[in-house]
Amino acid sequence: MKKVIVLGSLNMDLSINSDYMPKKGETINGYDFLINPGGKGGNQAVAAAKLGADTRMIANVGNDIFGQEILNKLKEYGVCTDDISISKFDSTGVAVIICCDHDNRIILGNGANHTLTFSMVKERLDAIAEEGDIFLTQLENDFQVVDASIRYAKKKGLYTILNPAPARVLEEDLYNYLDLIVVNQSECQLLTGIYPNDDESCIKGLQAFENRGAKAIITLGAHGSITQMEDTPVFVDSRKVETVDTTGAGDSYIGALCACLAKDMPVKEALEFSTKVAAITVTRRGAQVSIPYTEEVESYFK
Ligand code: ATP
Repeated sequence: MKKVIVLGSLNMDLSINSDYMPKKGETINGYDFLINPGGKGGNQAVAAAKLGADTRMIANVGNDIFGQEILNKLKEYGVCTDDISISKFDSTGVAVIICCDHDNRIILGNGANHTLTFSMVKERLDAIAEEGDIFLTQLENDFQVVDASIRYAKKKGLYTILNPAPARVLEEDLYNYLDLIVVNQSECQLLTGIYPNDDESCIKGLQAFENRGAKAIITLGAHGSITQMEDTPVFVDSRKVETVDTTGAGDSYIGALCACLAKDMPVKEALEFSTKVAAITVTRRGAQVSIPYTEEVESYFK
């Protein structure tokens, strides 16, 4: 089976609920404090591993308890952590999240995620990557490093997938090095100028990416996801479930998709499976912990 190699971020999410947002200089009481491993890279790698893919992560954490706990959890979920470096000088990435009345404020400390260098990535890819392996990345590490890594992975014959989150404009020629880009509605709008919310705008959005050189999948939240196969739209509606927490919906979908592609599953089937995975994820609180294993997907939708 092909490997799934994820280059990405690892953060410790520290979240607390409060009745209102503290004002300048104010200290207030919060409740339901949670410490949870997160970061898009970590979440997507966990999804791929829980769904049966031989998954390796290239990342950087600090030499601290958050870094250690993140590595322990990744291993527990089946992600190979041998290619993750431990920085002597930087702290592990953290996200400090205040949740209040369905709204949140987040302060991100990039820490070691932003000191991962291209030469570190290149060294790991040279050691582990084989032609045809899947290379998945996002935009939570230093952009120049991600950009150079995608180009290098493509030159090595890997199947390259980008989830451009958090969204930013890409170098135009980078699309030539991407086999697939997976975007949500706001990322599609930022990158193409088209907000996909009906058949016509979705097809225009998909076409805009294809014209630049990359196939695309657009995820539409509770409205499903869509791609094109030889100019024919392939739409998969979302599964109707009781939504508890949508954190990690997109990450679980993308990780599941990579696990399917590693097994050479046909595209429509891969979208259907990833849709089931994301649906289960939104019925549970948290990110990595809420992503199901293959057996859970099979029993939930039998
Ligand atoms: P997030 O940033 O919240 O992790 P995202 O914005 O990257 O997610 P979405 O488009 O919101 O990604 O969701 C990805 C997929 O998850 C959708 O295509 C859909 O299949 C599934 N999904 C999202 N929300 C729901 C929901 N409320 N019920 C069922 N499935 C959902």
